[in-house]
Amino acid sequence: MQASAASDSSDDVKKALITAVEAKAKQAQVMNDMIFSFGELGFQETETSKYLTDILRQNGFTIEQGISGIPTAWMATWGSGEPVIALGSDIDGIPKASQKPGVAYHDPLIKGAPGHGEGHNSGSVVNIIAALAVKEHMQKNGLSGTIKIWPGVAEEQLGTKAYYVRDGYFKDVDAVLFSHVSNTFATHWGGGYGNGLVSVQYNFYGESAHSAGSPWRGRSALDAVELMEVGMGYRREHLRLSQRTHSIIVDGGDQPNVVPPVASRWYFFRETDYPHIKSLWQIGDNLAKGAALMTNTTWDSTVLGSAWPMHMNKAMAEDAYENIKRVGMPQWSKEDIALAKALQENIGAEPEGLKTEISELTDPPDLKKNTGGGSDDIGDISWQVPTITLRYPANIPNLPGHNWSNAVAMATPIAHKGVVAGAKAQALNLYDLLTDDKLLDAAWDYYKNVQTKDQQYTPLLREQDQPAIHLNEGIMNEFRDKMKSYYYNPDKYDTYLEQLDITYPTVKQAD
Ligand SMILES: [Zn+2]
Repeated sequence: MQASAASDSSDDVKKALITAVEAKAKQAQVMNDMIFSFGELGFQETETSKYLTDILRQNGFTIEQGISGIPTAWMATWGSGEPVIALGSDIDGIPKASQKPGVAYHDPLIKGAPGHGEGHNSGSVVNIIAALAVKEHMQKNGLSGTIKIWPGVAEEQLGTKAYYVRDGYFKDVDAVLFSHVSNTFATHWGGGYGNGLVSVQYNFYGESAHSAGSPWRGRSALDAVELMEVGMGYRREHLRLSQRTHSIIVDGGDQPNVVPPVASRWYFFRETDYPHIKSLWQIGDNLAKGAALMTNTTWDSTVLGSAWPMHMNKAMAEDAYENIKRVGMPQWSKEDIALAKALQENIGAEPEGLKTEISELTDPPDLKKNTGGGSDDIGDISWQVPTITLRYPANIPNLPGHNWSNAVAMATPIAHKGVVAGAKAQALNLYDLLTDDKLLDAAWDYYKNVQTKDQQYTPLLREQDQPAIHLNEGIMNEFRDKMKSYYYNPDKYDTYLEQLDITYPTVKQAD
């Protein structure tokens, strides 16, 4: 399906759009570095949200702030009429991932603080730069159509997109273009990538007592928290290979001489499809019941997030792939490659440097052979409206993910070039969807007659579930003031690297 690649005039427009994005490279760098410097965690992206909505407002977008009852979320809209194309990307960071950019060893800006240890500082930049270029073209040529831009708030908590869907924000949208940071330039279609999940906090309630004076008076909620995971540890041996179940202790009590009267454990239950996610969740509930029985405590649970397994649109992916090929990989400098190799060597990863070729568009993997992996709540949106994810090359390969090392490149020329390449492809994707009826028809044909033919979307969220907007409040309260002194000041400094006085690249620790 390459309906849009046909005519000469479309070819000219695409060349012009690429030039228009290139002309916004400085703006892209400033936005990327700014959001990197905010380093905000999920649901607490107040600076990021304000910064991005201000830019969108200045560019004529109408902002609906606080959608789905989430203060840092918004829906930005520009234009009028059909089609309606919505662009989204995540904006949140990773706990304890604070890191000086351009430095190839662990060197936090602020010890223990959050940071962009995945690269979610870059995706909204890709979308907004692309949208501005296309918007200018539409205005010049009197084209109709509506562009929407929204943020993946708290993606690391899988915390918001299912609520956007529940609240109808994608009901009138014709297609969704998502963007996500990567070390390669790619898109994909179909299912079978990663897992879906439900994120559940189990709370146990006992009775406090003096741990030495009268321990027999106490009923320990912490005992239940520990026994629940003992049960899960044994149970894991007998679960499907595709599952991923992990947890942290949210509340393990206050001090040793007080029997903990309340304690909580937070689980992610990941599986490849809806029925298996539900049955994993049921196992969790049973284990909580058992742990409460063993400890003479009571329990309840709260859903903190959810994500359906992703299914991406074939026609849109094929179109995007042509656009990715047209744009091609960025030209890396020897400094970019030196940083990548030094980082890879320092963390014991294969020192391959940076990717130089785009990734081929392949058929999706066999669903039955999906051995699981990470999740993204874009999955819920992909079951509501034809959706693809553009993966753009703004980071270094072979990194562990959710780690300080994943932040190293994210405010350097590697990210700056990757974002501009991504914005070029996204501008072309957006242009195609706005102007090519045949492409949209093919996208909906696939959605209706292939994707949802035998499978219907049933939300994992229950009616009573609400966005967990309290998450990360404590961490941000602890670090926000210190982080403020590291916010990027583009009036004074060309780049964030310059502001931090970092030699690019810094590959060796000083003795
Ligand atoms: Zn992500």
